[in-house]
Amino acid sequence: MKQICTFGNSSHQIGDLHLLRNSNDDAAIAKLLANCPVMRLEAGQAVTEAKHARLYIVLSGALSVATDTRTGMADGTVSKILPGESVGEQSVLDEEANLSSITALEQSDVLVIEADLVWQLIDESNVLARNLLRLLSFRIRAANAQLRRRQKLGEFYRQLSMIDGLTGLYNRAWLNDLLPTMIATAHGSHAPLALIMIDLDHFKKFNDSHGHLAGDQALRAAASVLSGALRPTDFAVRYGGEEMMVLLPDTSDKVALAVAERLCERMQQAIIFADMRLPLPHITASFGVATLQPEQDEQALIAVADAALYRAKELGRNRVAGTA
Ligand code: GH3
Ligand code: MG
Ligand code: MG
Repeated sequence: MKQICTFGNSSHQIGDLHLLRNSNDDAAIAKLLANCPVMRLEAGQAVTEAKHARLYIVLSGALSVATDTRTGMADGTVSKILPGESVGEQSVLDEEANLSSITALEQSDVLVIEADLVWQLIDESNVLARNLLRLLSFRIRAANAQLRRRQKLGEFYRQLSMIDGLTGLYNRAWLNDLLPTMIATAHGSHAPLALIMIDLDHFKKFNDSHGHLAGDQALRAAASVLSGALRPTDFAVRYGGEEMMVLLPDTSDKVALAVAERLCERMQQAIIFADMRLPLPHITASFGVATLQPEQDEQALIAVADAALYRAKELGRNRVAGTA
């Protein structure tokens, strides 16, 4: 037998109210709810925070709940609560009044159930307790899913902020973050770590002769020479301006010098413009190679590679120099 209950001016079936669905004694519930007030809200009107936690069940209209009451997270999420649905059950259970952000989306009638009465209903009806558990479990799942989405998004932006926009190589922020760890790992495992410092030759002149846009294109071409020639375990970084760096874990000095020679060779063959109608500028670069020594930190390692690079420039550019 469906139990019709009158709240304010309107009649509802107990079974229409989600939390009270499938109860085995609608009449008893209807009796308990008989004196609950119905709050009429106009569109845009907010539910003012009560001293004590309350459960609200939408009878007609729609509510918007911003942030925490539905998901337990103050994150700017907005949920829409439709007729039959409830809001505030969590506050009733943990006695935290956090309902300041409930607003009517249109004219709405809302059944207000004080916390004491909710507990009484729970004592009275196992079905209500079950419905409540199911609802809370659904909200926890939704909150967790949202948290995971946010974490993924956060990770995406973190990664994005570690990539150089022009070349697609890792940037200085990545290097500052990762190089100390790579060095600590290499020291800890006594594995070699090689670093190659790269600087494009006479790049100021390149810009002056071909324009800054062509310079940008040349930087991109140089970057793809690096990333195209490395193993998946190696890293290429734009250190700044026209300076780049390659990190080669588990690589001896001898192998690192050979890698640098190969990069040097490929750099001068790099095609900067695919459009053959344009004159064919080319680039060269100088390379300084260093390998991590015991006790060396990242600054010391970079300084040694820098000194080698300086020697490569001094010796005439378009070449590789190692530790003298
Ligand atoms: P060297 O062979 O001694 O390295 O000579 P260089 O001209 O390359 O050295 P210098 O450091 O004097 O000049 C570097 C030039 O690289 C100047 C600067 O305008 C250019 N450069 C740095 N970053 C960019 C960039 O993002 N785009 C372009 N187009 N040019 C850049
Ligand atoms: Mg430079
Ligand atoms: Mg240069």
